[in-house]
Amino acid sequence: MSGLAAIPSTSASTGCGDAPVLRERGQREVFCGLTGIVWLHRKIQDAFFLVVGSRTCAHLIQSAAGVMIFAEPRFATAIMDDRDLAGLADANDELDRVVTRLIERRPDIRLLFLVGSCPSEVIKLDLSRAAARLSQRFAPAVRVLSYSGSGIETTFTEGEDACLAALVPTLPAEPAEAPSALLVVGALAEVVEDQLGRLLAALGIGTVRFLPPRRATELPPVGRNTRFILAQPFLAETARLLEKRGARRIAAPFPLGAEGTTLWLRAVADAWGIDAATTRGVTAVGEQRARQAMTRARELLAGKRIFFFPDSQLEIPLARFLSRELGMELVEVGTPYLHRQLLAEELALLPAGTALSEGQHVDNQLDRARAARPDLVVCGLGLANPLEAEGITTKWSIELLFTPIQGYEQAADLAELFARPLVRRARLRV
Ligand code: SF4
Repeated sequence: MSGLAAIPSTSASTGCGDAPVLRERGQREVFCGLTGIVWLHRKIQDAFFLVVGSRTCAHLIQSAAGVMIFAEPRFATAIMDDRDLAGLADANDELDRVVTRLIERRPDIRLLFLVGSCPSEVIKLDLSRAAARLSQRFAPAVRVLSYSGSGIETTFTEGEDACLAALVPTLPAEPAEAPSALLVVGALAEVVEDQLGRLLAALGIGTVRFLPPRRATELPPVGRNTRFILAQPFLAETARLLEKRGARRIAAPFPLGAEGTTLWLRAVADAWGIDAATTRGVTAVGEQRARQAMTRARELLAGKRIFFFPDSQLEIPLARFLSRELGMELVEVGTPYLHRQLLAEELALLPAGTALSEGQHVDNQLDRARAARPDLVVCGLGLANPLEAEGITTKWSIELLFTPIQGYEQAADLAELFARPLVRRARLRV
């Protein structure tokens, strides 16, 4: 059987394309956008992330990225103390001093992000002006940019969106006569980037670039001949700014699972006018191998009921993958924000009638989860322990950002991430 033939058709139904969504506004249980630094600092190897925040911010980053004890870290927190917060010290002068010391000590830094936090926003410290001032001082060796990772403005994965959005205006302009180039947008593990790059090359896509790049000195050019495709679903602002610079988005589901990866590659192939037989020739083997590798997880997960709390914005693509490729039943799929345009292809693939929710009222949602007694709940760290104590099996959504999960080779690992908590719970019961 050809891999592509195994994909259920979407033309007969719009799935959840225009399904009603429960919109909730209440207390949220989600990390702030500072969390993105934990994966972004590994990605751009000559960048440094300086959080302008409090001891709480420093603790968050340190404990989330605590595994990096052997390498010299590429992130830090400039801690604002009581004098700063009370307006007794000139926070701009202090920031300039900290940045100067940092750049003297770390001549490898080419790109410095000043990352705003709740405290810096509360005292209205203007980090974009600080970044412009410092950029002027340290140009051309170091470029200084800013974005907000504050919990007032951003949730969890929005930090990456804010970071990449800050980069977009600094990307060089692509010459008008340049041939079409593909830009893959969203931080991916290098192993995933290499695999997808090989598949895109096999399709015949001549120039493929990635945002963020591995080095700040390799910023991809952008212009009217740039077609871009998102590799992560939470990059609405980055996509908007790329379009403003003339680039055109290729709409596609996200490369999660065998089906998602094929549809993602096929969308690029279609945009380049590559014929179906060539595309099938490139994707069939990987897709088939991925489907086979998921057999064990499918046996464990088929028919199990899953409930998503809103957290990473990966929920809808994951729900599509788990229901269509692993046979799981979707009890509720919550997401912090539902970008209908970016997720249109994903929504069309969800089973009709899936309960969707956007935003959060954590108490109401906990009540619904308890009443439904799902087999597995996907949620943030703060909710996982209490739910486990109540006998509900959980999966931490943050792991989905720290683990390579995109592409054919990772499809089985992604499936295993959901199977493992169920296996562990079954063992504990024995
Ligand atoms: S930015 Fe705000 S929410 Fe995030 S760690 Fe700092 S104080 Fe907490």
